[in-house]
Amino acid sequence: MMCCNAKLRSLPNVSIVLNAQTTEMLGNGQRLTGLRWLERGTALRHELAVDGVFVQIGLLPNTEWLKGTVKLSPRGEIVIDDRGQTSLPGVFAAGDATTEPYKQIVVAMGAGSTAALSAFDHLIRTPAGAAQAA
Ligand SMILES: Cc1cc2nc3c(=O)[nH]c(=O)nc-3n(C[C@H](O)[C@H](O)[C@H](O)COP(=O)(O)OP(=O)(O)OC[C@H]3O[C@@H](n4cnc5c(N)ncnc54)[C@H](O)[C@@H]3O)c2cc1C
Repeated sequence: MMCCNAKLRSLPNVSIVLNAQTTEMLGNGQRLTGLRWLERGTALRHELAVDGVFVQIGLLPNTEWLKGTVKLSPRGEIVIDDRGQTSLPGVFAAGDATTEPYKQIVVAMGAGSTAALSAFDHLIRTPAGAAQAA
């Protein structure tokens, strides 16, 4: 079986650009016309005329500010269990910023419900005074 990478490379109408840092989207006020990128390593600048782009999600979640509060994975994802519970009792998380492996809208929405239900469950089991004191 031909691997997807090999298949992609075999296509005559595809150019693969690696180690590129996109720096600018160009437009004419009506639509996208091109993009600029830096060649990582050499810092050479390039420009390419394009009619469209597909933006791929980044790999690092914006969780710097949580460091030292809840446990984060080596990738910076908030570590949760199957109830959305983080390492800090009473703190629940959901969505792309967590260790949930599938970063999709429907998954994030379901996880949001799970976290909310778990928070509710946590609160009804917590004595009133304890919740306020925390
Ligand atoms: C280009 C692209 C295309 C995608 N296409 C699809 C698709 O076709 N189908 C699909 O199912 N999924 C798709 N996804 C994935 C989908 O968007 C995510 O899985 C989903 O949005 C995750 O929801 P979320 O609520 O966890 O995070 P987000 O939707 O990312 O929401 C997080 C929110 O938190 C805010 N925020 C971040 N840091 C802070 C802070 N410190 N304080 C306050 N607010 C903060 C952000 O501004 C953002 O509004 C795509 C993602 C991208 C990037």
